[in-house]
Amino acid sequence: MNNNNLELLMNDGSDGEPAKRVLQYIKSHQIKKHPIVGIYCGYAPIELIQAMGIVPAVLCAFSNIPIEAAETVLPANLCPLIKSSYGFIIEGTCPFYAMSQAVIAETTCDGKKKMFELIADIKPTFVMDLPQLPDEVEALKNWKTMILKLKGFLETTFDRQASDELIESSLQAANQKNQLMQKIFDFASLKPPVISWQEMYDVGFLALPSTAQEMIPILTQLIEKLEMRVKDGFHYGKPDSPRVLVTGCPVGGDATKIFKVIEASGGVVVALDACTGMKAFMGEFQENTGDPIGAMSERYLKIPCACMTPNHRRLEDLSAMIDRFKPDVIIDFVLQACHSYNVESYKVGHHVIEKHGLPYLKVETDYADGDTEQLKTRIQALFESI
Ligand code: SF4
Ligand code: SF4
Repeated sequence: MNNNNLELLMNDGSDGEPAKRVLQYIKSHQIKKHPIVGIYCGYAPIELIQAMGIVPAVLCAFSNIPIEAAETVLPANLCPLIKSSYGFIIEGTCPFYAMSQAVIAETTCDGKKKMFELIADIKPTFVMDLPQLPDEVEALKNWKTMILKLKGFLETTFDRQASDELIESSLQAANQKNQLMQKIFDFASLKPPVISWQEMYDVGFLALPSTAQEMIPILTQLIEKLEMRVKDGFHYGKPDSPRVLVTGCPVGGDATKIFKVIEASGGVVVALDACTGMKAFMGEFQENTGDPIGAMSERYLKIPCACMTPNHRRLEDLSAMIDRFKPDVIIDFVLQACHSYNVESYKVGHHVIEKHGLPYLKVETDYADGDTEQLKTRIQALFESI
């Protein structure tokens, strides 16, 4: 069965426009006078923020529009994600930034780190020093200290407290939310998949800042709808459409051109291995350890971002995703001037080809649409090679 007359998965008037949906979500909290804090990275400990009754707003931007303004200050040869996020701020056009009363920033890559210096005097900003050698014995201790310092910053800035009991229940609730997200992603592992990249992306965008209490009823309903699709024999793409796993830098907004090109070339995206996709919902918080901040630190430090060295967890997680989603090809999405992901792609490509015997394609791009045709030619050639 194809997707004609198929009911939209979320069907709330914002399907295909996840930023609009999340904006409504944040606004609904703003109306209730809940404090809002901006975050920039997958390492921001959302469960701590939520345990304190604060709402996280993701400030990473994916639009090409503010880049020209950003380039009046930042070098043109910088990652578009950083330029876009900064451009929105200097132009005063980011509603998420406008609603944030404070900002949490993390020392991941150099470009982001230096950009934070340029915005640090606009709003109260807390920079988290992220240990980048995650396997060293002191890394976990240092990261836990940083999370405790963040807690102090949030307490002072927002006059909010969170007991260990509250933080523990926030972790346990997040585990439940993440398990349901995994159930949603399981529908992409079916052959052929019954959920599209756009739907996974839509759900993930909302699930990231939302609490488990808010998300669990929504996710439960979505799972029922997806089960119904399976019963009805619905699937995306053709049974023999090439299945694609996209790894690499975060993909959102204008960068979703990569997913659109894959689809237009006859492929189906079955796994989104990035902070804007599945990565945010992977892993589990250890429960009832008596040290919830320690458990939180452990889970966050395991995020396999290319800013870590060595980053062997990325390859291990990639292997697990390949086993689970059974892709026919891997596309490594690298944003221009993102040196960490760009250099790491050599190891990723080698791992994919040697260990899994799968075709691998690295694409380096930005938020402009000038290379769409070229991307299409390369992706079509990749599919023909299967
Ligand atoms: S890719 Fe790395 S730096 Fe970027 S949001 Fe994810 S964890 Fe943070
Ligand atoms: S995509 Fe790369 S360069 Fe851009 S913000 Fe993320 S880690 Fe930094």
